[in-house]
Order: sequence, then structure tokens, then C-alpha cells
Amino acid sequence: MERTLSIIKPDAVTRNITGKVNSMIEESGLKIVAQKLIRLTPKQAEEFYAEHKDKAFFTSLVEIMCSAPVVVQVLQGEDAVAKYRKIMGATNPAVAEEGTIRKTFALSIDRNTVHGSDSLESAKREVSFFFSNLEICE
Ligand code: ADP
Ligand code: MG
Repeated sequence: MERTLSIIKPDAVTRNITGKVNSMIEESGLKIVAQKLIRLTPKQAEEFYAEHKDKAFFTSLVEIMCSAPVVVQVLQGEDAVAKYRKIMGATNPAVAEEGTIRKTFALSIDRNTVHGSDSLESAKREVSFFFSNLEICE
């Protein structure tokens, strides 16, 4: 059993499609074991995405992530990290596989609907970035 951190990004929250994203998550067999709607501060977004601080898109990434509320959630299941990356689809929706969340809903590479941890190690850091153990219900 693994846990991974998912974020339903501002583009999805503002379009009122968080339920549709959650349906795809649930249909995959992953279980939502924690979930909350929050508004990220620039400081939080910068810290969360620290690995990208030298990239050209960093400033706009932080701006976009703070432009509206997001849904942060913990997903649990067998092979949850890789499984969620698979159903999310590629970062760039133009090349994402048919049937993935990003292919279905993303507007562009910078408004790509969801975040998912990229490794078990990232997942541990990212889950504890947003949730205490008391907030995770199995
Ligand atoms: P992923 O979210 O698939 O793990 P990355 O960790 O590489 O992708 O990038 C983090 C986020 O930064 C992406 O989801 C996307 O929102 C944004 N991003 C990545 N690459 C670009 C790019 N070339 N231009 C604009 N935004 C980007
Ligand atoms: Mg990433």
C-alpha cells in the first residue's frame, strides 16, 4: 500500500470540474483518504515547487498555483505513486495518452489540471507538507 499527494489545480477548481477529476481517480481504484480545499500562498507554492526554482516557468507556475483555490488530497492504493502518474498523463496534455486526466481536462502545459508526486520519497514529503496524520482517514 502506498500514498501519493494529488493537487487538483486552479484551472480545474475555477471550471467547477473537481468532481469529474475525483470520479476518474475513484474509477482507477485509488482511494481518497484525505482531502481539503485551500488557497496556496506564494510562499507555500514556492516551497512546494522548490525543485523547479531555476526553471524559466517557475514564476508563472507559482502565480498560477495561487490564482484560485486548489484541492489537495492524499490517494492510497497499491502502487499509488506510479498508478496516479499513469492516470494523470504526461505533463504536456498535447502528448498525454487518451483517457488520462490531463488529456481529458488540461488546457495547456501550464494549466494541466492535476499534480501528482513523482516518487515515493516526494510523496512522503508532499503528503506531510499539507496533512497531519490526524487528517488522513483510512
Ligand atoms: P509534473 O507536474 O508532470 O510532475 P513537472 O514536475 O516537470 O511536471 O513540472 C511541474 C509543473 O510545472 C507542471 O505540472 C506544469 O504545471 C508546470 N510546467 C512544467 N513544464 C512547463 C513548461 N515548459 N512551461 C510551463 N509550465 C510548465
Ligand atoms: Mg513534478
